[in-house]
Amino acid sequence: MNVYDSDRMQDLMENVGYETIDTPEGADMVIINTCHIREKASEKLFSDLGRIRPHKNKKEEDGSQMIVAVAGCVAQAEGEEIFKRSKVVDIIVGPESYQTLPDLVGKAIREKKKQINLDFVPDNKFDVFRELAANVGDAGSSYLGGSSRRVSATKGVQKSSDFVTVQEGCDKFCTFCVVPYTRGAEYSREVSKIVDDAKRLVDQGVSEIYFLGQNVNAYHGLDSTGAPSSLAKLIEEVAKIDAVKRIRYTTSHPRDMSDDLLAAHRDIEKLMPFLHLPIQSGSNSVLKGMNRKHTRQDYFKIIEKLRAARPDMGLSSDFIVGFPGETDKDFEDTMDLVRKIGFTQCYSFKYSPRPGTPAADAKIQVEESVKDARLAELQKLLTEQQIEFNKKAEGQVMPVLFEREAPKSKKRTTTQNGRFRQGGEDEVTTRSIQLWGKSPYLQSVIVDVESEEEAANYFGKIAEVKILKSRPSSLVGTIN
Ligand code: SAM
Ligand code: SF4
Repeated sequence: MNVYDSDRMQDLMENVGYETIDTPEGADMVIINTCHIREKASEKLFSDLGRIRPHKNKKEEDGSQMIVAVAGCVAQAEGEEIFKRSKVVDIIVGPESYQTLPDLVGKAIREKKKQINLDFVPDNKFDVFRELAANVGDAGSSYLGGSSRRVSATKGVQKSSDFVTVQEGCDKFCTFCVVPYTRGAEYSREVSKIVDDAKRLVDQGVSEIYFLGQNVNAYHGLDSTGAPSSLAKLIEEVAKIDAVKRIRYTTSHPRDMSDDLLAAHRDIEKLMPFLHLPIQSGSNSVLKGMNRKHTRQDYFKIIEKLRAARPDMGLSSDFIVGFPGETDKDFEDTMDLVRKIGFTQCYSFKYSPRPGTPAADAKIQVEESVKDARLAELQKLLTEQQIEFNKKAEGQVMPVLFEREAPKSKKRTTTQNGRFRQGGEDEVTTRSIQLWGKSPYLQSVIVDVESEEEAANYFGKIAEVKILKSRPSSLVGTIN
């Protein structure tokens, strides 16, 4: 979600004439987009600001100006405090009000005064993006989505997969998490607006729509009759768009895995057989302490129903180890759950206290060395499961959506008739192109193609690929 927000801020500023550069040196403006989920997020912010200070001083010595903006969750949580701790900062803007960034920059320059906006107005934010998208026509898709800014439509390169935010905020208040405080209450966008966004994106060549939300399956936006929809109904609506070939959604909460969503995995072919469903812990007492309001038994039941609906479902989750009070037995329950379910790829973290959250004040914190050992043990098991899942793909033929060139495309030497012969008289150097795409189970798939023309034919398309070998985090195949 933070990558999405950073992309949108980049779009907003480009719309008023700014260009992106790679270093703060000489920049007219620097935006630091912060994420409170990250450990020691505010310390990192102030050390980043310390690094920016000499660049800002240099600009001023040269008679010009550098505007420094702090955005994101840390901005929301710390507010005016940031101005007090760092003189470098000109603008503080929250994750639900960054659509006002160009105005704030204008005011900061004109009035030579620090600006702050921490309002919660998500509807207005999305309306601003929609208006921008409409105004810039063909170049506008990146205002609505933004899976990878490097290949955005504004840069003239076609994207094949893109995010559409459908829901923001959270009402669940897990005791370890800052999101409900920094992102505000749950908010769902209207069905018609999301469908419009999806149509606009497919007009730009996008074929995979990735619904995004902090609690995406708690989605309850209004439909055309004014009644609350569900995520399943939204998926059904967007699946009706012919050019949409794949639909995914993230991040889900076990409490919101409704029966109609489970049925959607059975009935809607365009809905990909992959689900990221964080459980956090396999221990009921830890889940209770986390205020998750679901048990390990609930989770097993959901997975059973999911696998009944879609037997080939790939599963992913988030885990926190070392939550306050977590015993060896609690941790063993997590390991047991992982062994029983079998995941395809997961995220795992050591618990780290976030100021202002209830768990941060708990008396029995787990020692760092114990957290380290538990994390290493859990990650070893998760990696083994990922390798095993990838191995099962060997020899299979699967549809792959090609998104871009793989980073390791390199030069190779061939004869003019295309056969490899080093040092031959007719030797020519061509580029060996590797394409990168996604399997239905969100695995990275890499294939070789002969030429840039051939590569261009596959971008944005789904092709059947025979998987030749598997690696821990990718598959290598050949187009069938
Ligand atoms: N809404 C999702 C859910 O209910 O699971 C998760 C969203 S949260 C932004 C992303 C992940 O960060 C969480 O699933 C959790 O594993 C991790 N996380 C959040 N707060 C944490 C903390 N205080 N310490 C360690 N990991 C944390
Ligand atoms: Fe944070 Fe997710 Fe819990 Fe909401 S449901 S408080 S976003 S972990």
